[in-house]
Amino acid sequence: MPDPEKTVRDEQREAQDKGAVMKDGDESTPNRMKIDLHCHTQYSWDCVTPIEAIPPRMIETGIRVQAITDHNNIEGALAARRLVQKEYPQLDIIVGEEVLTDEGEIIGLFLKEHIPRGLSAIETIARIRGQGGLVLLPHGFDPLKKLRLRPDVRNELRNQIDIIETFNARVNRDKWNQAAAHYAEESGAYQSSGSDAHTLRDIGGAWVEAPYMRIDTPADLLKALEGGVPVGKRVHPGISLLYRLFDAARGQLRRWGRQLQRAFN
Ligand SMILES: [Zn+2]
Repeated sequence: MPDPEKTVRDEQREAQDKGAVMKDGDESTPNRMKIDLHCHTQYSWDCVTPIEAIPPRMIETGIRVQAITDHNNIEGALAARRLVQKEYPQLDIIVGEEVLTDEGEIIGLFLKEHIPRGLSAIETIARIRGQGGLVLLPHGFDPLKKLRLRPDVRNELRNQIDIIETFNARVNRDKWNQAAAHYAEESGAYQSSGSDAHTLRDIGGAWVEAPYMRIDTPADLLKALEGGVPVGKRVHPGISLLYRLFDAARGQLRRWGRQLQRAFN
């Protein structure tokens, strides 16, 4: 008798080995769900996605759990969580922050308080842990990501990294996601997938296919990741930049529209 769950997972592993191939989004069964642990909103300097647009996009793409990880900010994540708790009880938002340390970027998940940029990596990790949060290493193996955590620091702190992003939709080559996966296997860290969405349409492009459960605590998330498989579709960096420019232009047009309206009222 074929084990249907195993077949889906094997297929996804194979896809991941090839650099991960996007599924149609219909493989989620009622007892499975999709988790994306990396995305940006208008609270990031390089993104204009409004908070209110995120829950409908999650529903559209089947993402049930979304971590909001703005650059050096948790305001958007807190606002998104309040919105979801009030109006979309079927979804879960994880409050995160992509913190720029002196030695590169680290993501904290399940944060209660903002962590300032510019601390050392070790101090930043201590502050994430001090709040009971989890430490995630985003796009740590792409040498073209200027802000990635420095490899020597990564190796020094490897025992303090809970989760390694082994699929990031915006790395410049598939092989750098594969390098992250090998490293995670060796270090025994949990593996995650992140759209690293900087536009609304990028949400839904990468996720961990995991057993269905509510995600309220770090322990819940680790349990889900343990039974999960990272999948996604890499976005060509040029295309991703075009989307961002398009969104930025649209945002600027909206601002000018509002200014004109105010001027004539
Ligand atoms: Zn990011």
